Amino acid sequence: GFKRLSVPSTATLAIALLYFTCVILVSQSALRSRLQRSIENIASHISATTDEHIEWFSWKTDSQYKQNQQANLVLADAYSYVETPVDDNSKEEEPKIPSMPLVRLPGWPSEFPESLDDYRRDVLSNTSWATDDLKHRAEIAPYVWHHRGLADKLSEQSQSTDAQTSHAALREMSRLGILPTPSARRANAYFVVLLRNRELNQFLSTLRQLEDRFNKRYHYPYLFLNDEPFSQRFMQFVAASTTSNVTFATIPTDHWSMPEFVDEAEAREARRRMKESNVIYGGSLSYRHMCRFNSGFFYKHPLLKNVDWYWRVEPGVDFYCDLDYDPFMYMQENGKLYSFVIALKELEATIPSLWQHTLEYMQKTNVTSDLMSFFVSKSGNYNLCHFWSNFEIASLNWLRSDAYESYFKYLDRAKGFFMERWGDAPVHSIAAGMLLNRDQVHFFDDIGYRHESFMHCPDTANSMSMKLRCQCPKRKNFDSTEGSCLPRWKEYVPNQWTQRDTNEALRMMREARIVNSVYDPKIVVERRRWYSFFSGF
Ligand code: GDP
Ligand code: MN
Repeated sequence: GFKRLSVPSTATLAIALLYFTCVILVSQSALRSRLQRSIENIASHISATTDEHIEWFSWKTDSQYKQNQQANLVLADAYSYVETPVDDNSKEEEPKIPSMPLVRLPGWPSEFPESLDDYRRDVLSNTSWATDDLKHRAEIAPYVWHHRGLADKLSEQSQSTDAQTSHAALREMSRLGILPTPSARRANAYFVVLLRNRELNQFLSTLRQLEDRFNKRYHYPYLFLNDEPFSQRFMQFVAASTTSNVTFATIPTDHWSMPEFVDEAEAREARRRMKESNVIYGGSLSYRHMCRFNSGFFYKHPLLKNVDWYWRVEPGVDFYCDLDYDPFMYMQENGKLYSFVIALKELEATIPSLWQHTLEYMQKTNVTSDLMSFFVSKSGNYNLCHFWSNFEIASLNWLRSDAYESYFKYLDRAKGFFMERWGDAPVHSIAAGMLLNRDQVHFFDDIGYRHESFMHCPDTANSMSMKLRCQCPKRKNFDSTEGSCLPRWKEYVPNQWTQRDTNEALRMMREARIVNSVYDPKIVVERRRWYSFFSGF
């Protein structure tokens, strides 16, 4: 037989029900108070200093990680709220702000046919242009707009009235940050900014800092470049945000397209494989156009034709200190041709064959620089050091030199901009190694600067930091981090490179078989954490 199951009494049932309810209530309130604690944690961390934020993100143990995971997510949300750019492209409203008059540049065509698409097709299919430059000018002309800054007009006025300038006019000038810098003392220079319409907001923040920290006293003009026409909204907001002259233009098609010697299908396959290997921007074609444009074309833009110097600026970067002198004049007067603020190591998977091609190129030319060995390791390989080109003050004439051009052409023919993902930073840097001496490259220690999570600030223990009114976040200078090449730069003793060094490097590399003629899918780099999670902090 079998035992009869005992039927629980109503009382037992009630007790069990009560018990479970209690368990649920208690665990819920525990959960709630834990959440409450995390939220308080977040609040305190948000109000704390930035280096505490960094602490907060650099978990030391797994348990610490789990403990903070919940809060972490919420905080990440808060950041993404700040960081997510508004999609300016979606529905573009005409700006409801006082309109800034945009004009054509003197000497540029100002009348165009009804259909700009037809016009562009005609320009591109016409084979009888006397020079590339004429063709490029014709192509971009409908999209070139200029705004004459107030500073320009006022300084003209103040020159004409001279000592008679009224109190009111002086006051207005002071409000606009116009100091009587004689224009004759200015260099022939431009800020050059390549960006997309949707990066307007990030750029405005950068622009304010640049103007406040430096350019309100100098009024160097800006040139904005884009592979698509700038929107009215973009141009209006930028023009309204600086008293300096601004010019907007598109990029000639020749400077932003795949050359005919690159096979499109092969390039697509290379992108697919690099994306699969998680190489940053590995799958992006536009990023490659950007890198190639910055490597070999921007300095050929028709609007920079007669310009000597440029300062490259990217949307979203920060400038933390006053710049109390003119860096262009500094370069000009001290024989500098290239400069940097941050130096770091390139991701190897983006340039598997760059060094091999470079050595082969160097074999054909006679490199005698005393800077080249800064970039070479004992094994003859590229040590991956490069100057970070998102900040760059440099000579356009140097980039336009035959020597630079022939190196770029050689690299371009090697297809690495499309079959791999060569960045303009290592290209500029190695070119500097090849063509310049150590003394011609300048490290701007006194420029407080941040791009993404990499920051350089003058040492706070140094009186310079206070003198320049730096407002650097309390976080680690990239200079003292493992990936920085600044220590190497500071220790570097100039040392003449010879043809023998080139041959020796090639020989060592061939022996070690560090030779990759095309992108090797076996090279896998891990996405760095700061990129995947914390990019742009
Ligand atoms: P990163 O600094 O290497 O992460 O690359 P970014 O995305 O910051 O790009 C470098 C610069 O080129 C920035 O100034 C971007 O605004 C600009 N840029 C990148 N891709 C494009 C593009 O497809 N079109 C335009 N007009 N600008 C671009
Ligand atoms: Mn950038």
